[in-house]
Amino acid sequence: MLQPLKKLLICFVALLVFSCASKNSPDLILINGKVWTGESDSSFEQAIAIKGNLIIAVGSSDSIRSLADSKTQVIDLNGKLVSAGFNDAHIHFLSGSMGLTEVDMTGTKSSADITERVNEFATQNPAREWIVGRGWQYTSFESGLPDAESLKNIVAEKPVFIKAYDGHSAWANKKALALAGIDRNTVYKEFGEIVKDKNGDPTGALRENAMDLVSKHIPKATRAEKLDALRKGLKQAASLGITSIQDAGIAEEDLSLYKELLKNNELTVRFAAAFWVDETTTDTDIISYTQLKNSVGVKNPMLRADAIKFMIDGVIESHTGFMLQPYSDIPVTDPLAYGQLALSLERYQSLVTTFDKRGFRIFTHAIGDRGVRESLNAYEQAAKTNGKRDARHRIEHIETVSPEDIPRFAALNVMASMEPIHADPGTMEVWTRAIGKEREPYSFNWAEMLKNNVKLVYSSDWPACIDINPIRGIHVAVTRRTPEGFPENGWIPEQKISIAQAMKAYTSMGAYSSFEENLKGQIKPGQLADVIVFSQDLFTIDPMKTFETKVLLTVFDGKIIYNVLN
Ligand SMILES: [Zn+2]
Repeated sequence: MLQPLKKLLICFVALLVFSCASKNSPDLILINGKVWTGESDSSFEQAIAIKGNLIIAVGSSDSIRSLADSKTQVIDLNGKLVSAGFNDAHIHFLSGSMGLTEVDMTGTKSSADITERVNEFATQNPAREWIVGRGWQYTSFESGLPDAESLKNIVAEKPVFIKAYDGHSAWANKKALALAGIDRNTVYKEFGEIVKDKNGDPTGALRENAMDLVSKHIPKATRAEKLDALRKGLKQAASLGITSIQDAGIAEEDLSLYKELLKNNELTVRFAAAFWVDETTTDTDIISYTQLKNSVGVKNPMLRADAIKFMIDGVIESHTGFMLQPYSDIPVTDPLAYGQLALSLERYQSLVTTFDKRGFRIFTHAIGDRGVRESLNAYEQAAKTNGKRDARHRIEHIETVSPEDIPRFAALNVMASMEPIHADPGTMEVWTRAIGKEREPYSFNWAEMLKNNVKLVYSSDWPACIDINPIRGIHVAVTRRTPEGFPENGWIPEQKISIAQAMKAYTSMGAYSSFEENLKGQIKPGQLADVIVFSQDLFTIDPMKTFETKVLLTVFDGKIIYNVLN
């Protein structure tokens, strides 16, 4: 029997140890999982401990369980696959979210499907002045573009404006064209085109900036409507395991929406903004973007605004991607035979040098092989003028590239920012016709990029894609086939990459892109607790089953924001 004093002392020590343990014990542990830490295709652990918003330990289930106390929430994963949350490194989150409140044409395959979808929406939303939507495919139309004849049964009494899935072309009905004052006599000389039929009448199809002629008449969404839409978008992102996004082109006034969501604790993604820069950007804008970059700062892991977005060309399908050689399906005498520049090369170079000097990360949309080359040239020149630094500039999309230019990416430390979902073989018919057989092997060449030590980062480009879901993109990355299995051996199958490579491009490389590789993108002690759990093991299943994978649990900043585990 112990002396009373000794007993008291033991109790005291025990109390100290206990209180000490509870102070350091995790808030949440995930055990019995298959935790892909993100390093290589064989780096797996069983369990994770989370405290506050950080991962504090990773290891065996026993070692992690021993850290827990009675207050720790324990989740048994029953062997399920775990990874760091997805980082969608190129997205247009506000327009995507606004689209969740408009007609969604995703999955439509013909003009009849589109007509039905639009008319149904018009009936269900009688109060809408305009019917606005997005998501049609070029392949739904024989000519590759919609026209008044094939969509003649679409609602006529209200203005209708529907964009292609990639946002580079749109179709407007007669009422919308009339409101915009567009008729057979309208001449458009900027970047884009008012498409006209053989009689000289507008078909309703509008390419690139010509879309603005109509879209500027659509009533603007209010701030409250935008915030509501963003809340819908965030909910969707949580359900898909997206915990970081990089917005590729934001208007200055919209940054405050994210600030407000952050202040209200409603922002459930880490948000990085790129300011949209084009021919109209003024010196005042440049000063204002720099001030915003510095005031938002780059140390806040929830919000940053340190990137600039350019568009040097358009897209292949509408012959606006800027090419080294002429398009294969139009005469060389066509004004668009080599595509089009979205801004002059002199202006682009001067702005790239300016923003590089001011310490911005630069994203340039370049889809044609000439556009890609000119972007590399501009980054190279900026480094010569301003001095070389770890700038992590990126080229976005890179749908075609000259083989000579591939090694230049690594040499200049320029990242290849690409969307695997854009190469879904079910959407490539119009694209491949325009590009021709000779250039096809240099299309969406992820494997070639990795072989040349290029840093590859993935994204959806939502809503300019058929699906925001990272899993759908990863399916294309590892199979180069549609979920239905087309084509049998994969489209340019040499360009398939491994599941670990695809997962890295969708997690840690996004973090690297924003200089945050020490903060997030892997499952390691000290990293932010953005963790997701999958319904099946992507590393061992038949790659053709990848698209069936669901996210079952999303932990963001240490908190569970989505859970359908049981
Ligand atoms: Zn984009």
